[in-house]
Amino acid sequence: MNSDEFRKIPGVDRLIEEPEIKRRLKETSHAAAVETIRSMLTEVRVSVSEGGTCPEYEEIKARAIAGLEEKMRGFTTSVINATGVMIHTNLGRAPLGGEAVEAVVKVASGYSNLEYDVDAGARGGRGALCGELLCELSGAEDAAVVNNNAAALFLALSHHAKEREVVISRGELIQIGGGFRIPDILESSGARLREVGTTNRTAIEDYVKAVNENTALILRAHLSNFTMEGFVSSPSDAELAAAAHDRGILFVNDIGSGAVVDTAKFGLRSEPMVGRVVADGADIVCFSGDKLLGGPQAGIIVGKRSAVSPLKKNPVFRALRPDRMTFAALERTLVHYLSNEAEENVPLLKMMAMPAESIKQRAEAVMQRAGTAEGRMRIVEAKSTVGGGSLPGSVLPTFLIAVRPAGSADELAANFRKCDPPVIARIINDEVCFDLRTVPEEFDGKLAALLGTVIQQSK
Ligand SMILES: *Cc1c(COP(=O)(O)O)cnc(C)c1O
Repeated sequence: MNSDEFRKIPGVDRLIEEPEIKRRLKETSHAAAVETIRSMLTEVRVSVSEGGTCPEYEEIKARAIAGLEEKMRGFTTSVINATGVMIHTNLGRAPLGGEAVEAVVKVASGYSNLEYDVDAGARGGRGALCGELLCELSGAEDAAVVNNNAAALFLALSHHAKEREVVISRGELIQIGGGFRIPDILESSGARLREVGTTNRTAIEDYVKAVNENTALILRAHLSNFTMEGFVSSPSDAELAAAAHDRGILFVNDIGSGAVVDTAKFGLRSEPMVGRVVADGADIVCFSGDKLLGGPQAGIIVGKRSAVSPLKKNPVFRALRPDRMTFAALERTLVHYLSNEAEENVPLLKMMAMPAESIKQRAEAVMQRAGTAEGRMRIVEAKSTVGGGSLPGSVLPTFLIAVRPAGSADELAANFRKCDPPVIARIINDEVCFDLRTVPEEFDGKLAALLGTVIQQSK
């Protein structure tokens, strides 16, 4: 063993006194950062014990800094979504528009009228205006907002169906994303599942026959992330509402994505529309704020006053209430719809409305600015998807910048993720592909620069 080489390995104490390292330690968890440096030094020690030489001190310092920077990428921060998936669950779902963001910054950085009636100089209701806007937009009598749609459904079930039966079609016992399953939510709310019909066909009589003196409500859950085709049938929302009301029970409709504008307008399929499902007589309609509505993460509940109002007095409601930033962003988003300016101001709708031809023009301009990169870039036709468990299989035409890697496509894609901000791309047929539909136009210059640099570096 080479003890001279071992002696060259610096101690953690010396490294953490280096100004560049000290500064970074203050920007992240100290203990975890020191641990990162320690394990880097262990690797050096192992390599020396296997007969290797100790790298120069400057090289070890550089490795420590690189390790810390990797650690800091774990912070919640922005990325460039070049996947073309518009409601990307892993990338934070719907982006907020400028006015919503401004409102968030304003209320976040100071005090606000969250629960204060400025005119009266007295305590006010949290989310009172938001509730009014939701009623106006949906035609419902009452509204409530919680942290997400899973919470909305949980609250509705635990208030109205605890220790009672909930009738639902076997075709709607669905799983949404990781860890949200309708039967599990039902069970944890204390409700008892009464499944009826079959996977592909459920008739109104199936529901009606299952209702007894212990039944609290009929639940419908939108399939969201898959579709069923062929020999399928189920009653309409209006039929379910009528059947429930005839028997003195509630009809709860979990529509998932909460479309206010019909997505058929953009060449996509239609999703259940908030106004229509309310008009069809559901007592409670719930949906997410950050799917097709294009607002902040929230669970929105609208419906009949007799069904919605008691939810707000349930102690569980207090445990699920959103913060001031959510209300600020949601109010601005709703106002864009009410003033018929959603397509200009809600980023998600802007993306859906973007013609493929204008994406192609931007892609060509970005490619030009990135330099020729030895002909490793080209424009290819492809499809953008909605994502977020909405409109599965429904796509929009788009154009991608496809980059041919010098080595592996995985490696090239990883190099783009190491950028600041990280760029998330798709790999299609061994090419790393960038869809500008989901990239805000003001990032085009930045993306061009990153494309040029990364391609240059990965020859
Ligand atoms: C997405 C979805 C949910 C869960 O909503 P979150 O806002 O993610 O909690 C619940 N039900 C349906 C039908 C959905 O599509």
